[in-house]
Amino acid sequence: MLKNITEFKELDSAKTTFISTISHELKTPISAIMMSLQLLEDQRIGALNEEQEDLANSIKENSERLLNITGELLNMTQVESGKLQLKPKITKPIELIEYAIKANRVQAEKFNIQIEVEYPDDKISRLFADSEKIAWVLTNLLSNAIRYSPENGRVIIGARQTDDGFIEMFVRDFGKGIDPRYHKSIFDHYFRVPGTKVQGSGLGLSISRDFVEAHNGTLTVDSKLGEGSTFVMRLKA
Ligand code: ADP
Repeated sequence: MLKNITEFKELDSAKTTFISTISHELKTPISAIMMSLQLLEDQRIGALNEEQEDLANSIKENSERLLNITGELLNMTQVESGKLQLKPKITKPIELIEYAIKANRVQAEKFNIQIEVEYPDDKISRLFADSEKIAWVLTNLLSNAIRYSPENGRVIIGARQTDDGFIEMFVRDFGKGIDPRYHKSIFDHYFRVPGTKVQGSGLGLSISRDFVEAHNGTLTVDSKLGEGSTFVMRLKA
């Protein structure tokens, strides 16, 4: 059966443009909120009492979440509208790992999560990749590992070179793991494993996979319920 899908394609593209515009428009006011908060925290303006400080922290956390979500939505629309542009350059895998750790330090400290690095002593090839995008993916995977780990847990981030000429970068946690029946769907837009209590948008993994596939790489999961999860990004060295 043949069906004319032009109308659907147009609708889909209108939706993508809409999401893109909204996310973009939201970024400015959220940034302004965060800037005012920073001023509020400045002792020169006057000290906050404990309760006010708690409230300010809550506003800050929620604004950061909003900013994250708008960033994720923008990333997604970039991929969907075919506007994803890679700016590849030669990069050392360890630099990407260090970036991801730095970006997640506060979150890890908050839940007392130990971040360990597994990196080979001998030389590992450099990557020719869009370092911003790949660092974003690693940051996202590490953030998930931390968010889905119990307090006082440990997570491992690392890289290795395979004999057939690939660099594999991985993030492992010892959290509750993911039921095998969801291993495919977690990479879909907005999908969240039913019953997931940690807050999130369900966009991180789908954008991550898009970014990795744009590099002709793969992003896969290996996870057992009750044992934890390992996400592996494989890129040509
Ligand atoms: P978000 O974390 O914002 O919901 P993601 O796309 O990063 O979105 O993840 C999709 C879903 O996959 C999550 O909602 C969660 O249910 C599950 N998930 C992702 N990473 C992990 C992990 N390391 N451990 C357990 N579950 C995970």
